[in-house]
Amino acid sequence: MFNFSKISNDCIKCGKCIPVCTIHSVNPDETTSPRGFIELLGAYEKGNLPLDKTAKDIFESCFLCTNCVDVCPNSLPTDMIIEEVRADIAKKYGIAWYKKAFFWLLRHRWAMDIASKLGYVFKSCAVKEERKRGGLIPRFDLPMVKKERLLPSIASRSFLNSYPERIEAETADKEKRQRVAIFIGCLANYNYTGIGDSLVKILKALEIDILIPKKQKCCAAPAYFTGDFDTVEALAKENIEYFESFIDDVDAIIIPEATCSAMVKHDWEIFFKNRGMMDWARRSSKLNEKIFMATEWLYKNSDLEKLLKARGKSLDISVTYHDPCHARKVQGIWKEPRELLSKNYRLKEMSDPNRCCGFGGVTIQSEKFHLAQAAGLPKAAMIKETKADIVSAECSACRVQLSNSLYQNGVETIFKNPIELIAEALE
Ligand code: SF4
Ligand code: SF4
Repeated sequence: MFNFSKISNDCIKCGKCIPVCTIHSVNPDETTSPRGFIELLGAYEKGNLPLDKTAKDIFESCFLCTNCVDVCPNSLPTDMIIEEVRADIAKKYGIAWYKKAFFWLLRHRWAMDIASKLGYVFKSCAVKEERKRGGLIPRFDLPMVKKERLLPSIASRSFLNSYPERIEAETADKEKRQRVAIFIGCLANYNYTGIGDSLVKILKALEIDILIPKKQKCCAAPAYFTGDFDTVEALAKENIEYFESFIDDVDAIIIPEATCSAMVKHDWEIFFKNRGMMDWARRSSKLNEKIFMATEWLYKNSDLEKLLKARGKSLDISVTYHDPCHARKVQGIWKEPRELLSKNYRLKEMSDPNRCCGFGGVTIQSEKFHLAQAAGLPKAAMIKETKADIVSAECSACRVQLSNSLYQNGVETIFKNPIELIAEALE
């Protein structure tokens, strides 16, 4: 377990974390800064700070963007100790009914499939389509969602229900063929299904055998960031057991989503270690050798770069790439999507691609949406400044947040996942 008091003592109060902190940029107060969070958590552990509603409100305002960890000379894990205290908050105050219902759906895919289908069938009663951005606009104020907000679209059929479990490459020598499994993530499964369709197209073009494991579950990131650790434990264990059943048959499990990938590859192991479940931590760590973000694996282990040079269209479309926090800072992935995109698109860097988009998780997107709006504003402005046609990021949480920020701030640029752009270049 993390020792909050030790981390508090290790903070040398240098303040290097403050200029990069997402919550401090929209609420410039010492209590909502990495240094402030650490100080308060040290006091909480020593019994000098009650976990009252004010403390709850403060600890729920961190975006978990990890900017602070990146610059801290002592690499203090502010994001992870905030995640830990959120479990204490959940125990003391409970979890709001709508979050509980959402996490229950994440645990039961059959129910999520039904809920998503119902959402698709009845969506026109409550929302209208915004075709240009592939999103939905509420017709009236909904619980937790104001009517001017852009929501993700809902697909008529989930990605996992749209393909057979195995898709064999047609031409290459069977013995030499690579074989990958796709872990799709919930937003790409139910909302942004074009990502999975594009990944299948790319893998087919590369003559790679595809496994689409049908019993995969949510990675548990939404529950982890909200302190619902029972859900995290259940989902992580179910997924680990399932992955182990096919891991020896594939070269890799690839994930076109930064947050899911970081959760599976990074947070599961830490979660189990912190709870003394060392066998589960070891099993998670063993799987990690074969788990990659999609662009990372495609760039390092396939002929995609060559294929894009040889067969990809040269498109007169400008793209600016946003670095998801869970890709660049947590997994060191930033070069790979840029290298692949640059083969067929004109890349234009924004002034600070590493700045957090302001998604922040379920609580910030629902109860504290004003913070997400404020954090999204400067990001929308720097995207506008590039005059790029498309902003891209390998993360559907960033897509939810950036699409809404661009829409609300009247910026014409639209969002696409790099996997979608690569597939379009190969068409
Ligand atoms: S994780 Fe992000 S929002 Fe939270 S304290 Fe660190 S820099 Fe600030
Ligand atoms: S950068 Fe690290 S050591 Fe410096 S104030 Fe922030 S948390 Fe403390």
